[in-house]
Amino acid sequence: MMICKSPLELEKMRRAGLLVWELLQELRARVEPGLSTYDLETIAAERIARQGARPAFKGLYNYPCVLCTSINNEIVHGIPSAKRILKEGDILKIDVGVQLEGYYSDSAITVPVGAIRPELQQLLRVTEEALQRAIDRARVGSRVGDVSAAVQRHAESHGYSVVRDFVGHGIGTQLHEDPKVPNYGTPGHGPSLKEGIVLAIEPMVNTGKPGTRVLEDKWTAVTEDGGYSAHFEHCVVVTSNGPWILTQP
Ligand code: MG
Ligand code: MG
Repeated sequence: MMICKSPLELEKMRRAGLLVWELLQELRARVEPGLSTYDLETIAAERIARQGARPAFKGLYNYPCVLCTSINNEIVHGIPSAKRILKEGDILKIDVGVQLEGYYSDSAITVPVGAIRPELQQLLRVTEEALQRAIDRARVGSRVGDVSAAVQRHAESHGYSVVRDFVGHGIGTQLHEDPKVPNYGTPGHGPSLKEGIVLAIEPMVNTGKPGTRVLEDKWTAVTEDGGYSAHFEHCVVVTSNGPWILTQP
């Protein structure tokens, strides 16, 4: 069941959203060759605690950390580790969720580590554009399929593929609520969007094929063919004035 949020609930979700945005800005600024992904985990854990929030991922299905940090061919759910050292030319996906005053927020960015190859710059740009196009479809009367198709169309028009095994989602008092928001779909299909619905829209775009595989750690999802993957995510409210991104100012 999709839950429409009241203006008061949206105020709380906005506060959680801005907290996540500020945190991701700080992490992005810290990223450099030689840093470990666990260094980022430490920064995030301290900052979330200092702000009186709770990390959303840690403990969920026994996930061990505050952040998901996924490098290069890793798509999502990479576990921060002191042994994973960032190298020049890597692309790093940082995904974080928090709970504040009972409401969740969830956002992800892909960050270049130092200078990256032009092909990877394009992958990041196209994935972020796909997110922006999908957000623009998050309007009263749209269907989830309109949002999904916007991601797929933009990614595939550049020769990339979209991941099918992981999807975006509704969000509110639960991290994962209805509806599911796939990164592929058919315009005019799926649940219709009403005022007050909040979606976490999160394109995962691969340079190669869409197939995924989970590593022996039982968390890290990687591309089956070893290609690169990028991921961006925002929480967006469907309002009568159009889409409102909660996870950026
Ligand atoms: Mg996320
Ligand atoms: Mg999410």
